[in-house]
Amino acid sequence: MSEKKVPYKIYLEESEMPRAWYNLRAHMKNKPAPLLNPETLKPMTAEELSVVFCDELVRQELDNDTAYFEIPGEIRDFYKMYRPSPLVRAYCLEEKLQTPARIYYKFEGNNTSGSHKLNSAIAQAYYAKNQGLKGVTTETGAGQWGTALSMACSYLGLDCRVYMVKCSYEQKPFRREVMKVYGADVTPSPSDTTNVGRKILAEYPGTGGSLGCAISEAVEVATSTEGYRYVLGSVLNQVLLHQSIIGLETKTAMDKYGIKPDIIIGCAGGGSNLGGLIAPFMGEKLRGEADYRFIAVEPASCPSFTRGEYRYDYCDTGMVCPLSKMYTLGSGFIPSADHAGGLRFHGMSSVLSQLYDDGLMEAVSVKQTDVFRAAEEFARVEGILPAPESSHAILAAVNEAIRCREAGEEKTILFGLTGTGYFDLVAYERFHKGEMVDTIPADEDIRKALDKLPKV
Ligand SMILES: *Cc1c(COP(=O)(O)O)cnc(C)c1O
Repeated sequence: MSEKKVPYKIYLEESEMPRAWYNLRAHMKNKPAPLLNPETLKPMTAEELSVVFCDELVRQELDNDTAYFEIPGEIRDFYKMYRPSPLVRAYCLEEKLQTPARIYYKFEGNNTSGSHKLNSAIAQAYYAKNQGLKGVTTETGAGQWGTALSMACSYLGLDCRVYMVKCSYEQKPFRREVMKVYGADVTPSPSDTTNVGRKILAEYPGTGGSLGCAISEAVEVATSTEGYRYVLGSVLNQVLLHQSIIGLETKTAMDKYGIKPDIIIGCAGGGSNLGGLIAPFMGEKLRGEADYRFIAVEPASCPSFTRGEYRYDYCDTGMVCPLSKMYTLGSGFIPSADHAGGLRFHGMSSVLSQLYDDGLMEAVSVKQTDVFRAAEEFARVEGILPAPESSHAILAAVNEAIRCREAGEEKTILFGLTGTGYFDLVAYERFHKGEMVDTIPADEDIRKALDKLPKV
């Protein structure tokens, strides 16, 4: 089929939407390392995990063998309100860059929460409701996850308590209010409502908080409140499983037009959108059916893959969560309060960490000001106002397309456009005023945090 026939947007029919999530772990030779109990250093059992997470999600978390999990009908119905999401051929960006490369992006910003996070939020809320729970607790950084979860909870009639990183709570009143529209209870973190919050406040008075710290608070509330469980918007195996809907839809749409990507790019915070986008493609690579280049893009201010170490670490600052083996900068690492809010996590999904360690995936880190330059270039030709997180992937895709131009190569590039940037206009303003700085942590700051890693 000739390339000219590819439309600007490839939409799937409702009937073509995936009916099952794909569990990439089933086809990994080297499975991701198990979560460890922080006290005994033994693998977490389903029983131990079920104090924190609801039962079906524990099952999904621990299952490294089942390749497909059927998506319950009620979740599929919810998906239909904002999915399938379009796969866009970036004709205008190609033209602007004068590149022979063909560029595609999967756009996940077409819902009120403005990101892919809703794909997992509805699944997690559904299983909590199904178990007869009263509510869920969580943390949110930039606010996308909290917004997505509050939408899912209000749809299903579940209480939603969100611990929001304090600097975001103060800098992003709009996200906070959207969460309240959907009925969520939002608390700035660290707060004096939990033991761990009070401890962190005493140690670091005036801190703007971090994701790791908000996680500790949300877990404490979930495990000490009857009828509540904790839910997490990224990093965990179950979240990557739910996000596989992104890659499955993309693969179906590409197959329809006979398109095969050479390079697949995604931004990486905790790894859920990237893990979801690459899942079916990486599956083919693992099974020896096809080959692709995969590139994770992270901010230079929080470079877990490119400057971290592959070790067991805590997922939270308060060290109450299980230990996860992952590329990490150390749970004590507090990244600069720059604007890629959703990419400010010290660690990374253990699935992606294992794939990266096995040399199946590449990673690059990029600077904030370059990211915003790429974001603006993209907005001006493609129309969509991208989220700063997503713009990390845009920048890497643009760089690859320019490389293709210089080498005269007709590669096909696919990237994940995870969300929109309407709530990030303060960051855009700082960029326009020339006030945005590129913060790159010193080796010794990373060393200091890594030295505090548990000895496992
Ligand atoms: C949260 C978020 C990310 C990063 O999270 P991952 O789990 O790494 O996908 C990227 N883009 C947007 C818009 C987000 O909200």
